[in-house]
Amino acid sequence: MKYLKRLFLPILLSLSLLSGCAVNKSSVGGFNLVSVSEEKELGDKFAVEVEKQHPVVRDPEVQAYIDGVGRRLLTGVRKQDFPFTFQVVRDDSVNAFAIPGGHTYVNTGLLKAAASETELAAVMAHEMNHVVARHSTRQMTQQYGYSLITSLLLGGQGGELSKIAADLFGKAGGMYYSREMESQADYLGVETMYKAGYNPEGMVSFFKKLDAAEERQPGKIAKYFSSHPETVDRIKDIQQEISKLPAKNWLPDSTPEFARVKAKVKNL
Ligand SMILES: [Zn+2]
Repeated sequence: MKYLKRLFLPILLSLSLLSGCAVNKSSVGGFNLVSVSEEKELGDKFAVEVEKQHPVVRDPEVQAYIDGVGRRLLTGVRKQDFPFTFQVVRDDSVNAFAIPGGHTYVNTGLLKAAASETELAAVMAHEMNHVVARHSTRQMTQQYGYSLITSLLLGGQGGELSKIAADLFGKAGGMYYSREMESQADYLGVETMYKAGYNPEGMVSFFKKLDAAEERQPGKIAKYFSSHPETVDRIKDIQQEISKLPAKNWLPDSTPEFARVKAKVKNL
């Protein structure tokens, strides 16, 4: 497969350029040079680096809680190529991020800012769908080239892995994705929430709140929420999608566990 890939790489690359790396919102297939098993391996290597750079909250109650929300959301994703993991990291910026292979990290800042479990689930559902649609490896291939990915899989050269991990998932707040990818993660995120039983209106209320906060204090919010006109458009698209969904009974907006975990991370 490696040999074939090398042989056909120029053809594959020109095909991807021809298609303009277009994102079809309702399709999670999409062209990707990186295989699922390569992405899993790369993700595990990145996870080690990310957890060196972002202190993981080692509280059993917090861990069990975030894992529970993540597992419930997994019942609503279109496909599960990767063994997802969910952890809380100590960082006050309002953010969550998922790295290749499904390792998903929720900042303490997000837990503090979310008014309900539904709002927390909204951001997690968005991030998890970047993984489902394999956006990170597609983005990385475009940004760095496939040869860097093979080099990282072989262990990288002189701290390359930790440098790339810091570049991609460092303090700046997760990867840069194209607007199409963000829009697809919103679209699939709504679907995931709906299927898992969370009211997708939570995505609207939380995005609105973040947009207002960003207007008050520019630069404080994770960069994928930081462009006001785009956020307004995204909210409109999300609302439109929700309006097409049949009515359903939702899980409670919040739970005593959410309140306890939120109170706990406040004191960290
Ligand atoms: Zn995103």
